[in-house]
Amino acid sequence: MFYVGIDFGGTNIKAGAINENGRIICKGMIKTEKSKTYRETVNDIVELIKGLFKTSGLDLSEIASIGMGVPGTCDSKRGLILLAENIGYEYVPMADEIKKYFDVPVYITNDANCAAYGEYSKMDDKADDVVFVTLGTGIGGGIILNGKIFEGKNGTAGEIGHIPIEKNGEKCNCGMTGCWERYASVSALVRMTERYAQEHPGSGVAKKIEFDGAVSGKTAFSLAKEGDEGGRVIVSEWIKNLSQGIITVINMLQPEYIIIGGGISREGDYILNPLLEEIKKDTYYNSIENKTKIITAKLFNDAGFVGAALLGKGEID
Ligand SMILES: [Zn+2]
Repeated sequence: MFYVGIDFGGTNIKAGAINENGRIICKGMIKTEKSKTYRETVNDIVELIKGLFKTSGLDLSEIASIGMGVPGTCDSKRGLILLAENIGYEYVPMADEIKKYFDVPVYITNDANCAAYGEYSKMDDKADDVVFVTLGTGIGGGIILNGKIFEGKNGTAGEIGHIPIEKNGEKCNCGMTGCWERYASVSALVRMTERYAQEHPGSGVAKKIEFDGAVSGKTAFSLAKEGDEGGRVIVSEWIKNLSQGIITVINMLQPEYIIIGGGISREGDYILNPLLEEIKKDTYYNSIENKTKIITAKLFNDAGFVGAALLGKGEID
């Protein structure tokens, strides 16, 4: 049997299937078209799945379950999307709509939870308590406790990007000020890089931005690796910001692992080593045994649909 997973994002919808061993059998992607109704979009997703199965020589009758991750709040027990502003959905009976096409169990939950579950399944070590932190436009989070996704009473647990770290800080989209994601997301890193270039015309940072014609999360990292002073200052400041929320997560949950995801996590040890140095300054972290280990993600863009597929598979081997 095969387990289908769908990662419903604001830009793309990825879908794929895994087998009993959790191996990816097929995957594909379509653009998210916000002008379409949810019924039209589900129809497009179904066509995508049918196409993927046909190309891979699989039979649709071999689908055991379908899972979907959405960028918003869900009532996973009733298969409802309560609110997903990114894709313009409010109170959408998503599971029922999918069941019109496939007579299998359908699971709906938050996309960061799915990504967390996907990455959790690919860990080398067995662990019960893991927090997944994904760095992108904002900071997303997914909490795995006792091997299960922890959704909270209302399905919105794990919104760690909105941990306040500055009382009178920058305004956040959520309406608060000083949220962690305003300081430690990739968008924040980009803003810090731009600001540095403006304040230091003629610096290596300013020159690189001019040469590249663009600034990204990689700009400061690649300069820092070359030994550029500006690059080092920006990366070091950003890592300090990153450590603030990570320390909060550790002090609150003491998970066995924190997995850092998002494209920027490909920087690997260039993030992990200085991050650990910052965290070591925290007294609690220093004084306890069995310290939380911090690792980077493995699945990247596949984590969402793999995790969604695993919702139906139940136990992770
Ligand atoms: Zn916020």
